[in-house]
Amino acid sequence: MTTVAKRSIPGTRQQEAAGTQDGQAPKLQVFTDRHLDKIEPLKRLGEEVLFEMKVVASVLPFRVNNYVIENLIDWDRAPDDPIFALTFPQRDMLDPEMYEQMAELHRREAPKEEITALAWKLRHQLNPHPAGQMEMNLPEVNGETVEGVQHKYRETALFFPSQGQTCHSYCTFCFRWAQFVGDKDLKIASKEAGQLLDYLAERPNLTDLLMTGGDPMVMKTKHLAPYLEGLLDERLEHVQTVRIGTKALSFWPYRFVTDKDADELLGLFERLVESGKHVAVMAHINHYQEMENPIFREAVRRIRATGAEIRTQSPLIKHINDSGEVWARMWREQVRLGMIPYYMFVERDTGAKYRFEVPLAEAHRIYRDAMKKVSGLARTARGPSMSAGPGKVEVQGVAEIFGEKVFVLRFVQGRNPDWVQRPFFAKYDEQATWLNELTPAFGEDKFFFEDEYEAMQADSGLKVIDAAEVEA
Ligand code: SF4
Repeated sequence: MTTVAKRSIPGTRQQEAAGTQDGQAPKLQVFTDRHLDKIEPLKRLGEEVLFEMKVVASVLPFRVNNYVIENLIDWDRAPDDPIFALTFPQRDMLDPEMYEQMAELHRREAPKEEITALAWKLRHQLNPHPAGQMEMNLPEVNGETVEGVQHKYRETALFFPSQGQTCHSYCTFCFRWAQFVGDKDLKIASKEAGQLLDYLAERPNLTDLLMTGGDPMVMKTKHLAPYLEGLLDERLEHVQTVRIGTKALSFWPYRFVTDKDADELLGLFERLVESGKHVAVMAHINHYQEMENPIFREAVRRIRATGAEIRTQSPLIKHINDSGEVWARMWREQVRLGMIPYYMFVERDTGAKYRFEVPLAEAHRIYRDAMKKVSGLARTARGPSMSAGPGKVEVQGVAEIFGEKVFVLRFVQGRNPDWVQRPFFAKYDEQATWLNELTPAFGEDKFFFEDEYEAMQADSGLKVIDAAEVEA
């Protein structure tokens, strides 16, 4: 059985959590804001840091598991350790004014109701529904709304299974943070495999299904099976590719190795591959430190042995991976393990962006720096890419044209397929962090797609959803 490399974590129950020393399969143990006091290694960071975490975790979601605590975080480097920053709340995830408002309630031990009320008020100031999520129209089949499906791009439908709307741990920068604090407006998940399959059967142009969450890999195999086995139906011959967005490889690799139904899950992948489908595990990996344990590599090996492939993606996040060297090392290691680097995303305009966002100009410098350091097989990663309302827009470069410094941009994916691969130009701006902060270059009033996109938004018959959903 695979054993897990340990990091230095004084005072924790390493043996028990890894569970591999005595032949027992490890059990997932989850800690939330109510259990901060119970996380032993946190104590070495001092009372003040613990207090700050409590304050932030009463506004933004927090959830971490025993594998992350005991095997991924280098506690000797905390709070600067990248995996610590990826999973534990930090004071500057809230702007100083918001932080102070919430801290004041905690200092005077205000009643729970008062804390909850302020938390909701602050959450609404953090742009909980970026890029039109609220305007989404759900698709219909036989006159009935198809719950849990978003269909923005012609070829690809997203499906949110209701049992997969949580994660083994939460990422501090997650753009879906609002759904984890119980924002009912973002509850779009479905338990209905039949309705999904009927919807797909009626759309012969649809070639890709992306199962996403949360993380569908938190689901038991018996709950995943009706959706995935349903795709073997001959009515769904045209659905060629099944993508599964997940961070389980990093946060709980046992899912593919020692969990009770791990073999069944891999058997499911294998059956899909044997039937002629392309199965792609879209692995969310933010830092090479997530890939160092033998259990991670064993999970990768087992997934690949089914014939499924693993494509990797991550946003570029300040304090976690904002360096070309980190990306180059991560991509090199992924290629060595047989994974395919796929996307570098731009951190989104929501939640704790106060702490995590990186300006587009800097993002492009980091992308280029990383690309320069890797061989051709790792240069498959697109980026830096913004999953914005009109589509996925990549910053291709910075150029000087007729004396004007500009960003060269292109749609990697567009609400109108005709926009794809069409270059366009924005004035260079060292501070801009998102598409809506850019202005067209060369004295133009608007970008070429803007009128059409506005018309699409005005047309209630169209699905105006968040392109970012296609990230996971
Ligand atoms: S949805 Fe993805 S980014 Fe968000 S917390 Fe889960 S694993 Fe992290």
